[in-house]
Amino acid sequence: MTREIISLDSITFRYPGSEQDVLKNVSFSIHEGEWVAIVGHNGSGKSTLAKLMNGLYFPDQGEIRIAEMKLESTTVWDTRKHIGMVFQNPDNQFVGTTVQDDVAFGLENHGIPHEEMVKRVHSALEQVKMDDFLNQEPHHLSGGQKQRVAMASVLALRSDIIILDEATSMLDPTGRQEVISLVRNLKEEQQMTVLSITHDLEEAAKADRIIVMNQGEVFKTGTPEEIFQLGDELVKLGLDLPFPLKMSNAFKTQGVPLKGQHLTEEELVNELW
Ligand code: ADP
Repeated sequence: MTREIISLDSITFRYPGSEQDVLKNVSFSIHEGEWVAIVGHNGSGKSTLAKLMNGLYFPDQGEIRIAEMKLESTTVWDTRKHIGMVFQNPDNQFVGTTVQDDVAFGLENHGIPHEEMVKRVHSALEQVKMDDFLNQEPHHLSGGQKQRVAMASVLALRSDIIILDEATSMLDPTGRQEVISLVRNLKEEQQMTVLSITHDLEEAAKADRIIVMNQGEVFKTGTPEEIFQLGDELVKLGLDLPFPLKMSNAFKTQGVPLKGQHLTEEELVNELW
C-alpha cells in the first residue's frame, strides 16, 4: 500500500455566520495513486470537503493532512502545491486568450522561467492530447476539450493530486467519456492521485474506492462493488443508480427478460455493464 497523501481526521465544519455544521466528524484517507470518488446528494457536503482540502476554509475541529503536512494557515501555500482543482463549469476557468496562454498563466504566477514554462505547457497539452490546439481560443473548444485544457493546467504545475469537482456534470456523453479516460490515464501512467466529486454513480463506478456522503457525514466507504451492494439504500440517499444496477434491482423484483430469455442477475449485470 502506498503512503496516505490526504487524510481527514474527525473534521467538523460550519460556514462563518451559519448555524449548522455542514461537516460532522468526517474521517477518511486517500493513498498516493488512488482514484477515489466522493458521491452524495446535493448539499451533502462534497464541495465543502474540496474547499477544506484546498485550504479555502479551515475545519472547526479535527485535522487535515496533505502529503504529510498538517493543513493550516501557515502551510496552506505548501499544501496547495500538491493539489490541482478542476471545476464544474469549464467556461469559468479560462484566463488566457489562447489555450497555451491559459495553461501558462498558472506557471507565470509561480515565477517559472520562460523556457521551462514553454516546455511544461507543451508537454502538459500533449498529455491531454490538446497539443494541436495551442493557438485556439479556449471558448471555441467543446466542453470535454475545455476540461482537458483545465487538466493540462494542473499537470503543468506538477501537482500530484487532482480534485475534480463535478467536472463532468455539464458535459455531453462524449465530453464525459474524454475526461474519464484521461483521468484513468493520469492515474495509471502518471501515478496521480485523483479525487472526483460527483453525483454520478456511473462515473464513480470507475474509481478504486467510493466515499458516500450523507448530510455532512460519511455514510459508507468501499470499493464500487461494495457500495453498489447497498442498492436501495443509495436510492434513499437521493442517488441515481447506474443503469445496469437499476435493471438488476428490477430483476430482483420482476425478473427482467433480456434477448427474450431470463438471465441470472449476474449475467444481466455483465451483459449491461
Ligand atoms: P454538495 O457539494 O454535496 O452539493 P456543499 O458542500 O456545496 O454540498 O454544501 C453543503 C451544505 O453547506 C449545504 O447545506 C449548503 O447550503 C451549505 N453551504 C455551501 N456553501 C455555503 C456557504 N458559502 N455559506 C453557507 N452555507 C453554505
